[in-house]
Amino acid sequence: MKRLAIIVGHNSEKQGAVRHDTGETEFVWNSDLAKLIEYEARDYPGIEVKTFFRQAGLGYTREIRRVYEETDRWGANATVELHFNSASSPKATGTETLISGTPASMALAVSVNREMVAALGLRDRGVKTRSADDRGGASLMSGRAPAILIEPFFGSSPEGQKATDTSAEKEVLAEAVIRGVASSMDAMPRTEAQMASSRTLRRTKGQRQKIMAAVGSAAATVGLSGDATALEAIGLAEQIGAALPYLKWIAPIALIGILFALRMDTDAIEEARWNDHENGLR
Ligand SMILES: [Zn+2]
Repeated sequence: MKRLAIIVGHNSEKQGAVRHDTGETEFVWNSDLAKLIEYEARDYPGIEVKTFFRQAGLGYTREIRRVYEETDRWGANATVELHFNSASSPKATGTETLISGTPASMALAVSVNREMVAALGLRDRGVKTRSADDRGGASLMSGRAPAILIEPFFGSSPEGQKATDTSAEKEVLAEAVIRGVASSMDAMPRTEAQMASSRTLRRTKGQRQKIMAAVGSAAATVGLSGDATALEAIGLAEQIGAALPYLKWIAPIALIGILFALRMDTDAIEEARWNDHENGLR
């Protein structure tokens, strides 16, 4: 049995962005989505789902630390924090997933993002890595388990609103999240030692983080697309990651090359965009 912790983004006092169509906040909309994910998870007897809320009034840092301590205590194997995006331009649209860049979080993110894009039919903005100082970064690095933060749509976009304004559409999204989690759960760390190495990015930034994300992307891709088991690929990526202090002069592409040697799928790697260099609207 694997445990999935769902964290509802924001809190009851500071509820986050607001949907322009229904007036619902991220907190309200995602509290409901969390219930739907728990409901849809009945079809996956190997996964236990529990929803956690961030406590208001603690201050951002303590609020995040506290909720991820709770998910750690519960023994989460993976965590998914629920949000939706917002921008001043109504043209900004699409689905994206944020991660720290560890191989396991990449595996989880690639899988969930792909399912969400298929479910909502919005533009695929891809998987994006965030460091500790970035918006949402703390959520990705505070807990022990591989963590992702999902932004399925823009509440400020007419297109995003249209794709998510019926209960049927919301159910399809909930189903997509749990399906994405289920198909990458085999790649999630099982032991304390594996969990510990999934936290190695805590103090990692810049180029090293990019290299790690590239390795993670490649590992996730081979794991999810193919014959090599995800666990093998992730294990390899973690080993390479551990050697990074000695390998930092190697370009990401060279590391991907190493993984290529182990029979990888180019198209899928292309798909699992690991960098932030997308020049779309924010
Ligand atoms: Zn948010």
